[in-house]
Amino acid sequence: MFEGNLRNCRSCGRLFVDTGQGSCPDCLEQEERDFERVRQFLKENPGATIDETAGKTQVKRELIIRFLRQGRLEAEGGVAELTCEGCGAAIRSGLYCPACAQKLDKSIRRIAGEKPPGAKEPEAPPSRGRVYLSDRLIQRDDQ
Ligand SMILES: [Zn+2]
Ligand SMILES: [Zn+2]
Repeated sequence: MFEGNLRNCRSCGRLFVDTGQGSCPDCLEQEERDFERVRQFLKENPGATIDETAGKTQVKRELIIRFLRQGRLEAEGGVAELTCEGCGAAIRSGLYCPACAQKLDKSIRRIAGEKPPGAKEPEAPPSRGRVYLSDRLIQRDDQ
């Protein structure tokens, strides 16, 4: 029995045992190094756009979006790739908008991914979102 699922690494495609991270240990290590570069850059340039951040740090835009999804960074000003998985609303960080997060808290069964009846497909916001380190990280850094 495996502790996790055998699957292909989303970064390099290698088969590995996933314990919920989605990337193999080698790629995770690389991601941490990439995150450190992004973190340093955003400390010096808070509010840089995603494209600027990607360009200066040589970290893939896709990976920066993933950091946003993980709640390690926050975006402001709308990022096309960053929308609530429940209702599709533009969000700053994480997976769900506050309203959906609250609903999920109350009823895990509603995750299903179905849009609430009557919910409109939101327009994709412009992809020039500015990114910041999440407050949590800044605080941790100051200690
Ligand atoms: Zn990998
Ligand atoms: Zn939502």
